[in-house]
Amino acid sequence: MRDSFDIKQWIENPDELLVIAGPCSVESREQLLNTATKLSELHRVKILRGGIWKPRTRPNGFEGIGEEGLSWMKEISEETGMPCMTEVATPEHAELALKYGIDALWIGARTVANPFSVQHLADALRGTDIPIFIKNPIAADLKLWIGAFERLSSSGLRHLVAIHRGFQDTNAAPFRNNPRWELPIELHRQNADIPIITDISHICGCRDILQKTAQKALDLATNGLMIESHCEPEKALTDAEQQITPDDLKSMLDNLIIHKSKSTNANVLLQELRSRIDSIDDELLNLLAQRSEISSKIGIVKKEHNLTVLQLDRWNSILSNHIEKGKAIGLNENLVKDIFELIHKDSIDRQL
Ligand code: PEP
Ligand code: MN
Repeated sequence: MRDSFDIKQWIENPDELLVIAGPCSVESREQLLNTATKLSELHRVKILRGGIWKPRTRPNGFEGIGEEGLSWMKEISEETGMPCMTEVATPEHAELALKYGIDALWIGARTVANPFSVQHLADALRGTDIPIFIKNPIAADLKLWIGAFERLSSSGLRHLVAIHRGFQDTNAAPFRNNPRWELPIELHRQNADIPIITDISHICGCRDILQKTAQKALDLATNGLMIESHCEPEKALTDAEQQITPDDLKSMLDNLIIHKSKSTNANVLLQELRSRIDSIDDELLNLLAQRSEISSKIGIVKKEHNLTVLQLDRWNSILSNHIEKGKAIGLNENLVKDIFELIHKDSIDRQL
């Protein structure tokens, strides 16, 4: 048995990029042993993942190996020195995972979508301090995601981590699940002490965009990556299109640019740039306030002269002029359009 990685310590101080890898599903002792042995040889993977109970969209597919797989997981995890984690969706799963000494649990996107299920899990886990990783719910609902943290935290669980796995969306292409990066960023803004792991496998759904997506997650300061890895991905019983071999995982990790979280020189520079941004934002706010005041005056004139609030010709020409002007100075067309639509809406509201 090798020295094992301390998950709780990492959660308290998540400075180093955490890599979690392993198969989508535990399929057999041999498959898990082959995969985990190769993953441990990379010396980069700190936690072994593997699904024991699989939430499948339709019945009669492979629904997970069940309880038997927990004993393989524990044995192989100890052998390879990588603590292990699995998905739990019901109190029964949680009790079994605890019984077999699984080191950490994750709650899947479908389960997080249902507050009753999350509460049942929180009740079942009360009194333990096992680390819990909470995936984002299927729908892009930040409150529901935060609600799951609140439920577990109310049960006394102190070691909680978020997993960003993207959101179901008919316009997700080229992704399987739309990453909507602004949501984990907002989660972080509201709860800076919760580390965030990016599950690039479920975001991408295929192998060819994994590298680019991993780099993007790193550029956006993710605390870690979860990647599905299988010794023979094409034979995998679940998520075969998105799993990669441990060798491919190695080359992916070797090619990532990992940023330093702390750098004094960079901090000085960033502070200076941020203070310039702050004063530009102040100016923007003042200008917006002045603009709104003029809008209100226009509203009074329109009322006095019995004119409609919405003057479509004027609005169309404002929008197209601004988009053209914006383009000429390097601003994105959609940005200018979105901003002026909001400003115009506010202006209309003030005049009604
Ligand atoms: C998984 O990690 O294999 C899984 C089923 O994830 P999700 O809940 O994100 O779909
Ligand atoms: Mn999967």
